[in-house]
Parts: sequence; C-alpha cells; structure tokens
Amino acid sequence: MIPAAFDYVAPTTLEEALAALGEHGDDAKLLAGGQSLLPVMRMRLNAPEWVIDLGRIESLRGIREEGDELVIGAMTPHAVVGEDPLVAQHARLLTDAEAEVADAQIRHRGTIGGALVHADPAGDLGAPARALDARFVIAGAGGTRTVAADEFFLDLFETAVGEDEILTEIRVPKRTGWRTHYEKFVRVKHQWSIVAVAVAVRLEGDTVAEARVGLTNMGNTPLRARGVEEALTGRPATEESVAAAAARASEGTAPPSDLNGDAAYRSHLAQVLTRRALMTAISGGTA
Ligand SMILES: Cc1cc2nc3c(=O)[nH]c(=O)nc-3n(C[C@H](O)[C@H](O)[C@H](O)COP(=O)(O)OP(=O)(O)OC[C@H]3O[C@@H](n4cnc5c(N)ncnc54)[C@H](O)[C@@H]3O)c2cc1C
Repeated sequence: MIPAAFDYVAPTTLEEALAALGEHGDDAKLLAGGQSLLPVMRMRLNAPEWVIDLGRIESLRGIREEGDELVIGAMTPHAVVGEDPLVAQHARLLTDAEAEVADAQIRHRGTIGGALVHADPAGDLGAPARALDARFVIAGAGGTRTVAADEFFLDLFETAVGEDEILTEIRVPKRTGWRTHYEKFVRVKHQWSIVAVAVAVRLEGDTVAEARVGLTNMGNTPLRARGVEEALTGRPATEESVAAAAARASEGTAPPSDLNGDAAYRSHLAQVLTRRALMTAISGGTA
C-alpha cells in the first residue's frame, strides 16, 4: 500500500530536529533508516502528518572512543557498526550481532539507533546492548539524559525515549579481550530471531572470571540471563560447568508463543543456544 500523505522536513542539526518535534508533537514521526517505520506507514498502521528525517544530521553518525567507552551515533547504519574496527576490538559482541541483522540491504539502510528505539523483542541488538551494559543518551527540549540499558527497554516496542525526544548516542563500555558470540536461531536465513543468545565472557586462565548473557525474544523486552551469569562466574570454563549454567537460561523469562514455536519450545531453545554460545565464545570463537 501507499502511505497516507505527509509533510516532510530534513533538519541538519539536532536542535532543529528537536524544535520540529516540539512543534508537531504527536503528529510527527522521526525517520532514521526507514526499515521499520516505512513498512508501518505503508500498512497504514501509523499515519504521521509530519516525517522528520534525521538523515542529514551529521553529528548523529559515527563511532569514536571516549575514555573507557565507545560512543556510537544513533544514526550509524548497522553495516558501519558491523564493520568498524573499534567495535570489533572493544565490543565484539555488537560485531557478532550486527552480522545477524536482516540482510545486507537492510543493514546498509537501517541504523543501530532506529533498531534499538523500535525495540522489536525479536530484534538482534537489544540483548547485546543489555549484556554489555550500554548506556543511551537521549536528547529533549530540556537537555540530555543518559539511561542505563537495564532501564531503557520498557515493554513491547516501548523504550525510555519519549515522543518528544531523540536517541543521540549509544555508549558501550569497552570490554577488550573478552570472548563473545551471538547465537541466533531461525528457520530461514535473514529471518527475525525465534530466540537468540548474546554472550560475552572474560577468562582468567581456565576460569570464567566474568560472564554476561543477554536473551533475544524471550519476553517483551531483551533480557539478561542473570542465573546463567551467576552460575558460571568463578567456575572452570568446561563443558560441564557451561551445561549446568545454561540450564538456568529460561529462569525469569516469559517467552511468546506463536507460529514459530510455543513458550516451552523457546525455553528449551534458550538453554540449548546458551550452551552453544558459551562454548563457542570460550573456545575462542569470535574473540
Ligand atoms: C525485512 C526486514 C527484516 C528485518 N530483520 C531484522 C533482524 O533479523 N534483526 C533485527 O535486529 N532487525 C531486523 N530488521 C529491522 C532493522 O534492524 C531496522 O533497521 C530497524 O528496526 C529500524 O531501524 P531504522 O534505522 O530503519 O529505523 P526507522 O524504521 O526509521 O525507525 C524505527 C522507529 O524508531 C524511531 N526512531 C528512529 N531513530 C530514532 C532516534 N534516533 N531517536 C528516536 N526515535 C527514533 C522512528 O520514529 C520509528 O518509530 C528487519 C527489517 C526488515 C524490513
């Protein structure tokens, strides 16, 4: 279908974009890569009177180091994040997950910020963002605020970013030398995750000194598998301890039931994928 008619504005600064948002309020939608917004508009599930295109605001793009953090502009395309050497060095889990987002065309148009604000529970970036304890910089008329990953995802397709606000940056603490893996389960290549598991571990010799595990599509929001992390920390990096820890992957989750599988199937899948992801990471997979 063709979207309903709308007016279009393409500001070149964040201030202009915030002013346009303030002026048009509920009648406006921000446009990033358009990979989720445009299908929604074409299906007429949303018919904004104004579309505010963030694509000309240079300050929202790019990746840089700042002390112990990587700073990723919200408008940076998936493909750029996925190929960035700084990300590969300090936040390898994001590199792994970006490779699994949709297909190459969508990765070139879609942005990391758009995907995170869209907050589809099957999206592939929320679980890594939670596992890495990313922080989200959000700009509004009153200035900027920073929200921790644990407080960012509120519900299905709902985040801490208000209707009159813009996500500007994702700040990711450096985890240099950690071993990582993103294990995504789909029936057909390029599909949305049925379940996926994001893993980052720090080894000291043969012991797991720290473990971080995020779950995709095991609830309305991306989740942390805290039980797994707790069970593995300080344990030997062996198949036995990994299997015992992975058995706790579905603790505290509320997976959906749909045509791809019911909740019990997803719970089982989460345990299997967590074990696989941890073993791949530990054995050096994508270190
Ligand atoms: C066929 C298909 C398959 C896909 N498969 C996957 C997949 O396997 N895994 C996956 O993770 N994703 C997948 N995606 C989604 C893809 O990652 C999109 O890029 C993403 O969901 C939206 O990003 P975007 O930049 O296109 O945002 P847009 O579509 O432009 O915007 C999405 C929403 O976020 C808002 N928004 C965007 N940027 C900002 C901002 N900076 N501040 C505040 N609000 C903002 C918009 O107003 C809109 O409501 C798929 C998409 C398609 C079309």
